[in-house]
Amino acid sequence: MQLFDPLSITVSSGHFIGGRVVPDNARLEVRRPSDGQVHASLPVADASTVDAAVQNAWQAWRHTDWARRAPRERARVLRRWADLIEADVQRLAALEAVCSTRPVRDATAWDVPFTAEGLRFFSEYADKLGGEVAATRHDHLGLVVAEPYGVVGAITPWNFPLVMVSWKVGAALAAGNAVVLKPSEMTPFSVIRLAELAIEAGVPAGIFNIVQGDGRTTGDALTRHPLISKMTFTGSTRTGAAIMASCALQGPKPVTLELGGKSPQLVFDDAPDVDCLAAMVAGAITGNSGQVCVAGSRLIVQRGIAEALVERITQRFGALRPGATWDAQATLPPIISAPQAARILDIVDRAREAGAQLRCGGGLFDGGPGGAYFQPTLIDGVTTDNPAVQEEIFGPVLTVQTFDTEEEGLALAAHEHYGLAAGVHTADMGRALRAMRNLSAGTVWINRYGRSADFVIPTGGYHQSGIGKDLGRQAVEANLRFKSVLIDF
Ligand code: NAD
Repeated sequence: MQLFDPLSITVSSGHFIGGRVVPDNARLEVRRPSDGQVHASLPVADASTVDAAVQNAWQAWRHTDWARRAPRERARVLRRWADLIEADVQRLAALEAVCSTRPVRDATAWDVPFTAEGLRFFSEYADKLGGEVAATRHDHLGLVVAEPYGVVGAITPWNFPLVMVSWKVGAALAAGNAVVLKPSEMTPFSVIRLAELAIEAGVPAGIFNIVQGDGRTTGDALTRHPLISKMTFTGSTRTGAAIMASCALQGPKPVTLELGGKSPQLVFDDAPDVDCLAAMVAGAITGNSGQVCVAGSRLIVQRGIAEALVERITQRFGALRPGATWDAQATLPPIISAPQAARILDIVDRAREAGAQLRCGGGLFDGGPGGAYFQPTLIDGVTTDNPAVQEEIFGPVLTVQTFDTEEEGLALAAHEHYGLAAGVHTADMGRALRAMRNLSAGTVWINRYGRSADFVIPTGGYHQSGIGKDLGRQAVEANLRFKSVLIDF
């Protein structure tokens, strides 16, 4: 059964500047990953369009009262925005599902409500961002005053288009900034509806703007713009490094970078409930077809439990059914694009050439509905230097390595470059906490894996997985700068 008709989904494909959609010449084709067909086309903002958007944001920031109004007023607007998003869930979910890999059922039950709830979370910080008072001498007072930056530039990826935007924009707006966003050119449409709802909720025109286009032209122009006082980015490590370099050359300006990962699932043989564990490990690499930054892509398992666990994971992989984001029976969504599917295949092939064995999967499903659907794949017999262990695959591909002692397990779990997240599964809490201390990762999940609505816990990576945090108090503070005031009296 088809949950919606993709051909019936019309999209607004201009930029969003000064509170309205601004048409521009369409230059890029945007495809539906589910069937590979072109859905609509997209303009590419050049440096002058980016300049117009940033100037607009700067004027709005200076001349509307967004930054100066009572913070509770800002909070109220953000909450109203969240309410409007929830009320528009059907339309937003279909817009999200048509050109992304998010199944419409998940977008309805998770992505859209999560987007709204994220904005509510940040709204609650708006009026709790006090500075500090420091009494340094009896005739002397020191103040630390928190102030917004002005215009924040945000660049986001395609894997969770709405959710990623709500994290960036919610934190920046709650702190009193204006934002110019460049969404991924592969999933650009649902955020336009988000911006229209922001205006309806009372966000002043010009405080939240969107420029459409690719990274090389539009993203680069945004990053380099002198009126962008802070950049926040989520995407690959390579792009994050390029953005940081151009921010340094043009400014410098502060950056928040949420980047790639290669997260381990460290399983000890006393882990409780192997069936439940298999469901968790399989889900952590097949959810969104593995196109998740924190995908648990490396299973590091103690020998005593390895075979039983791998067998159950393989069974779960085999039960998944590929299908379009609008297919009610599908449980495995498409890969975002044909080139990305070819990249996954290339890593799997190189892994095999380097000596790995396939336990299941290893290629594309035959005869899908036109998009690229990758078989859930389990790769055994890998050494640490195998490409499938080293490189972020961003597909449903799990490697397996076995160990005997706790020390060996921890050594295998470490990654030379990435440190985004890790899972530890054991009944021994002392061992779990020792592992937590030893794992060099921004998030450690113990006897669970993945986020739920725990917005107060920040997310962000160590090493080449990023700088700074999204979510939590830390994300709001990253959108503020602190002025020191010294008073003699
Ligand atoms: P990507 O780096 O290719 O693109 C991300 C965004 O950057 C897009 O909007 C793109 O247009 C833009 N961009 C590309 N080149 C640019 C440049 N030179 N200057 C400015 N902007 C540029 O990433 P992707 O393929 O869209 O997303 C997948 C990656 O995102 C994975 O590596 C994944 O791990 C990462 N990711 C990380 C997190 C996290 O929280 N750490 C969350 C989601 C995704």
